[in-house]
Amino acid sequence: GYPVHASLDGGILVLIGFGSIGRGVLPLIERHIDYDPAKFTVIEPSDEFAHILKKHGVRHLQVALTEANYVDVIKGLFPDGSKGMIVNLSVDVDSGDMMELAHNLGLPYVDTVYEPWPGWYFNPDMESIERCSYPDREELKNTAKEREGGPTCVTCCGANPGMVSWLMKEALLILAKDTGYEGATPKTRDEWARLAMDLGVKGLHIAERDTQVSNRPKGVGEFVNTWSVDGLFNEGFLPAELGWGTHEKKLPPHGHKWDFGPGYAIWIDKPGGETLVRTWVPGVGPQLGFVIVHEESLSIPDYFTVEDDDGKALYRPTCHYAYHPCNDAILSMHEIRGTCQLPEKKHILTAEEIVSGSDDLGVLLYGHAKGAMWYGTRLSNDEAVKLAPYQNATGLQVTSGVLAAMVWIIENPNQGIVWADQMDHARCLEVQKPYLGRVECHYTDWTPIAHRITNFPEERDEEDPWQFTNFLAK
Ligand code: NAD
Repeated sequence: GYPVHASLDGGILVLIGFGSIGRGVLPLIERHIDYDPAKFTVIEPSDEFAHILKKHGVRHLQVALTEANYVDVIKGLFPDGSKGMIVNLSVDVDSGDMMELAHNLGLPYVDTVYEPWPGWYFNPDMESIERCSYPDREELKNTAKEREGGPTCVTCCGANPGMVSWLMKEALLILAKDTGYEGATPKTRDEWARLAMDLGVKGLHIAERDTQVSNRPKGVGEFVNTWSVDGLFNEGFLPAELGWGTHEKKLPPHGHKWDFGPGYAIWIDKPGGETLVRTWVPGVGPQLGFVIVHEESLSIPDYFTVEDDDGKALYRPTCHYAYHPCNDAILSMHEIRGTCQLPEKKHILTAEEIVSGSDDLGVLLYGHAKGAMWYGTRLSNDEAVKLAPYQNATGLQVTSGVLAAMVWIIENPNQGIVWADQMDHARCLEVQKPYLGRVECHYTDWTPIAHRITNFPEERDEEDPWQFTNFLAK
């Protein structure tokens, strides 16, 4: 048997979206959460995977949520005063509106990304600055203050954003131990931020390498990925945004600071899917990754800011995604940049068709006494298949993060709006780890200026290898 971590106490469970993540989370919910099968509904416009819902005895409401119908559809599933939970794993459904509705209905809520209604990602009439996350995030932080003590609403919690915030804390504790740091385990946000500062962590990458491949070559014009195709190309064509460390000397080309709020992030007037950085992951070593905008690139530096008495940032790490997607996804993105058209044929590689490879996803902490350290999950598709059905390695890292969030929500019912950084990382990883394969820590003496096989001119800061200037490859 599997351990049952939490109970919905006969409440109503509504899952929105039955894509790669929705399908993968279903068996994990069945194993680890006590719920009433008669009160479980999945809202999903497509009937492609309806047979799975049928097999598991879950009600399928075949409808697409829209700005016009979402209130009626959701209210129709939760009669006045009913208890339960909304788990939003869809695309094209506005997270802010869903959160507000859940709040008004007194229901807990979780999603894995801050998603807008259709029409926002690709709108040539909008300026780049209008498609940045920082302003919306600052607004949501204000809403969070208004909703303090309300039903728990976990925003952006899968693998990344989500799990990586928990790995960051565990990584800091390991680094503290390995460098002989003598201090108590942090309890508050400020203490966590001070630990990162005391350890001299200048920044971190969310450093990922996906090596999963199938034995069918990708067709021309076909967009292939190991998770949501829409998700990747939507976020891949947003401006690159990243957390901006206090040690940084120079903005990158096309880089902009914000003139309001705490200013923990900058944005680059170029798509994240065209912004490449040098990074490092175990197994392959040095590699290039995309600086695709993600919630954790903003939430982590915000959380780990140490302020002086005047509220000015004394310390903050640089933080961004450095993502090497699966080979087919890299080719797909390359094609889209050429065609300048949205893809018509989309395909998510299934666990069955993947013949080899793994997803290595972790935090690469750099600039401290031991140089750089990667801490994360290394999960092969072969292992993932043995652990749970309906998903590849990438999917399982995400769905186990959603499961951890659901358990934490049930255990912490009145927290209002929270980000993964504010959750109990130890409890969440305890729930998640059985699904993460090998969780490993690796130190490396690599730096972004360490190796070159050519001698072309480039901007380099030899004094401080950990400047963003040195990571940026183009
Ligand atoms: P997917 O593309 O496989 O599935 C999305 C599903 O949403 C589809 O089945 C689609 O039919 C459904 N959908 C589309 N429009 C809808 C509407 N109007 N109402 C209801 N359902 C609708 O995506 P996925 O891989 O399952 O990912 C789901 C979400 O999770 C995406 O938003 C993705 O960006 C996010 N995600 C987050 C992480 C993370 O680690 N935080 C990782 C992977 C995916």
